[in-house]
Amino acid sequence: MYKPVIGLEIHAQLKTKSKMFCSCVNNPEVREPNIYVCPICLGHPGALPVINKEAVIKVLQSGKALNCELRDVSRFDRKNYFYPDLPKGYQISQDRRPLCFNGYLEVEGRRIRVNRIHLEEDTGRLVHDEKAGHSLVDFNRSGVPLMELVTEADIRSADEARKFAEELRLIFRYLGVSGANMDQGQMRVEVNISLSHMEGRKGTRVEIKNLNSFRAVYHATEYEIKRQSALIEKGERVVQETRGWNDKKEETFSQRDKEGVHDYRYFPEPDLPPLNLKKEPFNKDKVQLEVELPQKKRKRFHE
Ligand SMILES: [Zn+2]
Repeated sequence: MYKPVIGLEIHAQLKTKSKMFCSCVNNPEVREPNIYVCPICLGHPGALPVINKEAVIKVLQSGKALNCELRDVSRFDRKNYFYPDLPKGYQISQDRRPLCFNGYLEVEGRRIRVNRIHLEEDTGRLVHDEKAGHSLVDFNRSGVPLMELVTEADIRSADEARKFAEELRLIFRYLGVSGANMDQGQMRVEVNISLSHMEGRKGTRVEIKNLNSFRAVYHATEYEIKRQSALIEKGERVVQETRGWNDKKEETFSQRDKEGVHDYRYFPEPDLPPLNLKKEPFNKDKVQLEVELPQKKRKRFHE
């Protein structure tokens, strides 16, 4: 028999007044394209980023709510890749020193460990106009603060994956850190899944990207457990790859081979100082939650 081994990567847009590294309004849902842009979030040469304090505090609050350790000194790194919605040619993210690490969230009595929560910037958005035969880029979302949470592979079923994501959305909303509306792309879920042999032999990991509803998280995970089991039963190999989810057909499909894994050539962001979280203005000891978390509230109501 085989045991599903599931981990999640969840991105959530932070609800802040301005973008991550400039003073543009953070409102990626606005209809009119390219109105909240400036030389910094358009990646003009020589433009310098400034850290948004509100975004850092919101990630620290999320870390606290998820029982994480908060870093003493954190840092931003450059993640280098080329894509038309990324004008700088790199994304400012956090590689080695994420703000929060080693946390957990209890879901129906089971503890799911949180490996890390880090802060980065969102990319622009491509709009494909198939009739006109070209694509347009909207940079209103470029540079919007994005929190990425990565769990350990502690999840064991599609139902648990969905419940974890739902519980996380509830916490984000209680804290007021993110609107976390999945249909608006404010929260995006990626499922990593492999089937491990009961004797401990590890399976091959498949990533399912861009799941934008809880229903999709559940069904894509279910589908992938069945697909991988069937392959193994037949004596075939599960390919390590990234897969997408077709909501209409209710099946996952191959997107690209993972054989040539991306090399993002991370290095410390030279335009930003390290973040000392033991001192103002990012003093981690002064971070307050200011709300009663849903788990605590449930317990109190129950009692
Ligand atoms: Zn800007």
